[in-house]
Amino acid sequence: MKILKPDEKLSLQNDGTLEIFFIGTGAAFAQQHYQTNFLIIKGNHHILVDFGTTGPIAFPSTTGCNAVEVQTILPTHSHFDHIGGIEYLALLNRYVGMTAMQRPKLQMIINEQYQRVLWEMTLRGGMEWNEVNREGERLSFGDFFDIVRPTLKTQEPREIWELDFHGIHLEIFRTNHLPKQPFPWQQGFITYGLFVDHRVFISGDTVFDQELLDIYVDRAEYMFHDSQFFPNPVHASLPELRTLPEHVREKMFIVHYPDNPEQHDITGFAGWTKQGHRYIFD
Ligand SMILES: [Zn+2]
Repeated sequence: MKILKPDEKLSLQNDGTLEIFFIGTGAAFAQQHYQTNFLIIKGNHHILVDFGTTGPIAFPSTTGCNAVEVQTILPTHSHFDHIGGIEYLALLNRYVGMTAMQRPKLQMIINEQYQRVLWEMTLRGGMEWNEVNREGERLSFGDFFDIVRPTLKTQEPREIWELDFHGIHLEIFRTNHLPKQPFPWQQGFITYGLFVDHRVFISGDTVFDQELLDIYVDRAEYMFHDSQFFPNPVHASLPELRTLPEHVREKMFIVHYPDNPEQHDITGFAGWTKQGHRYIFD
């Protein structure tokens, strides 16, 4: 695996190698490193995973691209640092990309249950009234997004959705993030993490969850785990992650971290995930 700084402008296409580029690596309230949102790039296709409130600034400043170039988005859950920029992205696509630039409609990878929650509880207020047709109908989710559905792979021991998106294989698994310590996961709010191309585990937002790690730890070549520095009710903490065996820690990058991470010791881990760098899994 190589970690490279992009040229002046990040290419949203490559030779077919799996690549992950973090436009941000910070926690929700962090003032440094923007919020943890990232691109999965492979061949002619890309998926933007999450687009928080810092996304509209973070995206151009780290990629050199305009956010209107984003073709596909996958939201993991409804906190502002993960979906707070999606209205911006969708309106930009509809009123600049599709009209002035002849770009295709934005795609969203989302299952039916989370689509309902995302539209009804967050997006609808700012989006549905922008247009009304002759029949008096306002805009709907499908007017803004071409919907790509993952299929349910299993519900035991964990809900996992699966999708092959133009050669990018995704397992989208439920995490334990909200409310505080919502064990078992069935009682929590809808929150997801990802296992990409049968090789890369990205925790999404979660508490320290040994049952989840047990599903993926042997199959994952690399892991990106969210973390707070001290015990926290909705995220894994560094003290908890330090309890993992050495062979797990050495393939685990820490992401979604608060400001001034260099003041904390992560000896034994693969490192802090670097904002604005290309992780190329060759
Ligand atoms: Zn969250």
